Amino acid sequence: GAAATITEIVKETVYAADVKEPVVERTNAAFVILTRNKELDSLRETLAQLESRFNHRYHYPYVFLNNEPFSDKFKEKIADIVSGECHFGLIPTEHWSYPDYINQTRASEARKDMAERKIIYGGSESYRHMCRYESGFFFRHPLMDKFKWYWRVEPGVKFACDIDYDPFLFMEKNNKKYGFTISIKEYILTIPTLWDTTVDFMKEHKDMIPEKNLMEFVTDDKGGYNRCHFWSNFEIGSLDFLRSEKYLAYFDHLDRAGGFFYERWGDAPVHSLGVAMFLNKNDVHWFEDIGYYHGPLWNCPKGELNKNKKCWCPEEESIEIKNKAWSCTLDFVALSNP
Ligand code: GDP
Ligand code: MN
Repeated sequence: GAAATITEIVKETVYAADVKEPVVERTNAAFVILTRNKELDSLRETLAQLESRFNHRYHYPYVFLNNEPFSDKFKEKIADIVSGECHFGLIPTEHWSYPDYINQTRASEARKDMAERKIIYGGSESYRHMCRYESGFFFRHPLMDKFKWYWRVEPGVKFACDIDYDPFLFMEKNNKKYGFTISIKEYILTIPTLWDTTVDFMKEHKDMIPEKNLMEFVTDDKGGYNRCHFWSNFEIGSLDFLRSEKYLAYFDHLDRAGGFFYERWGDAPVHSLGVAMFLNKNDVHWFEDIGYYHGPLWNCPKGELNKNKKCWCPEEESIEIKNKAWSCTLDFVALSNP
């Protein structure tokens, strides 16, 4: 990994070979994609879909982030397939390394133990840095500073229907803060102490928690964590929310507790618990109409929502229908507004 200073990070190459002026109203937003050079082919496949289903009419910019420098080939091949400006950024070392209060021997023992227990990504060190970065840092990368809205995309995901309106503008005009397509229950062995650590934070910071929140979405009938979370490989959200003092205080509290390294806390439950604490149901939107696949799960629009969008996704495979026990989406829908 290359050690990068902030100057190196903002001295990026902007590829804007064939960027057209948007012909429609647009807001201050960007796609944000954390990825590796080796994911070039699957990312190109995804971006070709995103462009033809949506962005060829809007030309929203892209921010690509990596803990290692992107290769010239990567930059050229990506810029070639999209219609928006491309910003390629290197992640500062202090956002992708161990804080000094982390005991690295303990972290390595935890990885060994979780690998032996066959916990998904349990033995992976890079996955932990990734989850911590997506939880607390991507929105603080200098390349993100000028944007208000982000749409997270990952290599390999599929967009199976036309998106015939601007989801960013939808968020802005309807005063939403966080949008998702899929929500499911987390593997508890990856986050044994995340809930208790979160409850401790809430007790210490009662002043930060609004009365009308979304805690009901994440709470079971005994008052514990029901493991529900919004799947963070797709998110359309407010950067101001993630950059807010309260969200940063929450992230910091979690980071100091060490569970990103001693356990394997995912960015999805972390974002979701932040959303549940600080936002309310009206702030959150299910993009039911966006045909979206991230292995192995689908969100596929049904009925009227499926019409006139050239959808090829299987409606009955949509996870909230296919596996009601694993999905949390219909429970979200059933919550009453504050
Ligand atoms: P999963 O969806 O939980 O199975 O995890 P992924 O492998 O899809 O990783 C989540 C996101 O982080 C994807 O966008 C990956 O491209 C990215 N990612 C994962 N590990 C790394 C890494 O070590 N370096 C970089 N630059 N990106 C990573
Ligand atoms: Mn993924």
